[in-house]
Amino acid sequence: MVENLVIIGSGPAGYTAAIYAGRAQLQPLVFEGFSAGGIPGGQLMTTTEVENYPGFAAGVQGPKLMQEMRQQAQRWGAKLIIDDAIAVDFSQYPFTLTSADTLEVKARAVIICTGATAKRLHLPGEEKFWNNGISACAICDGANPLFANADIAVVGGGDSAIEEALYLTKYARQVHLLVRSDRLRASKTMQNRVFNHTQIHIHWQTSPLSVDGDQVLRCVQVQDNRTGVIYNIAVSGLFYAIGHTPNTQLFQEQLELDEAGYIKTQGKSTATNIPGIWAAGDVQDHIYRQAITAAGTGCMAALEAERWLSEQRASLVSFAA
Ligand code: NDP
Repeated sequence: MVENLVIIGSGPAGYTAAIYAGRAQLQPLVFEGFSAGGIPGGQLMTTTEVENYPGFAAGVQGPKLMQEMRQQAQRWGAKLIIDDAIAVDFSQYPFTLTSADTLEVKARAVIICTGATAKRLHLPGEEKFWNNGISACAICDGANPLFANADIAVVGGGDSAIEEALYLTKYARQVHLLVRSDRLRASKTMQNRVFNHTQIHIHWQTSPLSVDGDQVLRCVQVQDNRTGVIYNIAVSGLFYAIGHTPNTQLFQEQLELDEAGYIKTQGKSTATNIPGIWAAGDVQDHIYRQAITAAGTGCMAALEAERWLSEQRASLVSFAA
């Protein structure tokens, strides 16, 4: 049996694609992912309050939002499998996907929504305060009352770190930007914004070593890389902005990726370089990385897949006639 559409991944992009494809009566099969992305549901499963997803005036817990999306996809006939796709063959049509449980599936169309993983430093003490003081997303977590008028540290020197630092000044008293080298990698415009900001203090050539606290995060221990001197900065929050890794290992030899490993999509669409395969969500987006933009591109991918499958069917019918 050949599936109409297989969706790989179960964050907002994957479930939204499944909802739209289900409503188009494609009965999509979704590999929800298990070990590769941590747990089904993507990065929102490890977030607490989501305050910026439209439609939830009082906010919504990340896992609750994903549970709702999952149920909505099921309601429209998506077949959900909690399993990782571990091998794909896009060189032959129909495409072949193999799962960790050694299920082999043939597909007429595939939507890839495997997301990206925020890099972490895995500092001593980090696990205890993850999502309770330590985060990799200021837009998601910055408004937490923990950070109101507090001191916060941001690690990194790229555009993301500057964006996070600037964003956090809305809530924090002081933002300590910890940059491991003597320069920022961010664009000049972004650099100027941070250099001129009175609430941001840059600690050059400084690396975090560990974190400490009690019920809440209290401090980050850092080292001055020039002198080796170790000191503590009292903070209530620590934000990592040291880049993301797109979850594209599976597709490396098969699809066109950019230099950072994100799947390349064409123009305003979610089409990849192989007809019949689309990519949605963070796996193809290093700029916006929001649940709502992931959901939006998931919707686009499903609409594009549905149209493409209809065209394929129409051309088969006219060929047979
Ligand atoms: P980048 O790879 O550009 O920057 C990562 C930063 O983290 C670097 O300063 C790097 O330091 C630092 N870093 C990496 N590992 C460690 C570590 N172990 N300890 C301490 N510091 C570390 O990632 P970004 O997420 O900032 O940006 C990714 C891409 O997205 C870029 O192309 C960027 O331009 C783009 N982007 C654009 C935005 C916009 O246009 N508004 C917003 C956000 C991102 P070092 O420099 O020493 O290697």
